[in-house]
Amino acid sequence: MIPPKFDYHAPGTVDEAIGLLQKNAGDAKVLAGGQSLLPLMKLRLAEPKMLIDISRIAKLSYIQEDPELLRVGAATKINDLNDSQVIRSRYPMLADAGAHIADPLVRNMGTVGGNVCHGDPGNDLPACMLAIGARYVVRGPKGDRTIAAKEFYRDTFVTALDPAEILTEVQIPKAQNGDGGAYMKMERKVGDFAIAAVAVHLRLDSKGTVTSAGIALTNVGPTVLMAGKAASSLVGHKPTDADFLAAGKLAAEAAQPASDMRGPAEFKKGIVQTLTRRALHLAWGRAGGKS
Ligand SMILES: Cc1cc2nc3c(=O)[nH]c(=O)nc-3n(C[C@H](O)[C@H](O)[C@H](O)COP(=O)(O)OP(=O)(O)OC[C@H]3O[C@@H](n4cnc5c(N)ncnc54)[C@H](O)[C@@H]3O)c2cc1C
Repeated sequence: MIPPKFDYHAPGTVDEAIGLLQKNAGDAKVLAGGQSLLPLMKLRLAEPKMLIDISRIAKLSYIQEDPELLRVGAATKINDLNDSQVIRSRYPMLADAGAHIADPLVRNMGTVGGNVCHGDPGNDLPACMLAIGARYVVRGPKGDRTIAAKEFYRDTFVTALDPAEILTEVQIPKAQNGDGGAYMKMERKVGDFAIAAVAVHLRLDSKGTVTSAGIALTNVGPTVLMAGKAASSLVGHKPTDADFLAAGKLAAEAAQPASDMRGPAEFKKGIVQTLTRRALHLAWGRAGGKS
């Protein structure tokens, strides 16, 4: 369980880090909290020759709400997300997810950026980012570009990030009156990755009609998945439990789970169906919906 030898750099700026990534193309990896990368290296599933530690770039750690967006710096610790009053009061889906990631030690080291960049279908934050319509700001040798979270995940551990690019900021549409979200996760034991988990986000107008919806699924496919039909089935309705049940069935159809040590595929689809219905009820209540 000892990783192979590697060089270590701790640059003071993002541009310096990008320069190192570019100069050592193919050999260098970004290190943030190390909670995913270091276990892979210990198992020799990843053998980068150089680690570029971005955790000391202070300007990458912040949570700011401005008139348009919630901005979360890539190196913000998951624990900081959980402790943020803005997140807890206005973006409860993120607080739900953050509280169920691993354990306090991992959350104290692991970063939001590492969680969304790793490309593991079991990571909890990507589904939230898809459901809420987040965008990722990445910087590379050619400057900044923005990628919608729903375009970011290509396959297991494969993302739209180029090798010399660094995620600098996650941008989330600012919460409005009538917004509500929830994340629900079934795990074998506290601290484990999900058997299955569901992120839902609803926006209601003043009459309680759903004007937009996002539903995304964790650990039931090669990568995080959108349940687009389930979400669009709710738009234009003042939903009832029957609508939430139907959306749960559509979400289960969108899931592509494999049978593994966390259970058979059909069981996982059942979990998706149940969690979607429950998460929709919770999100609906948080959005101010009344039956
Ligand atoms: C025991 C244990 C249990 C866990 N359980 C869960 C769980 O239940 N749910 C869950 O979601 N996660 C879980 N994790 C994973 C943990 O939450 C993630 O490892 C962590 O969030 C990743 O962040 P990090 O900062 O540690 O990333 P690192 O491990 O440092 O990096 C992960 C990957 O992302 C890349 N990367 C990191 N930051 C950037 C950036 N800014 N730009 C570009 N690339 C970047 C790295 O190069 C690497 O490829 C668990 C981990 C452990 C050890």
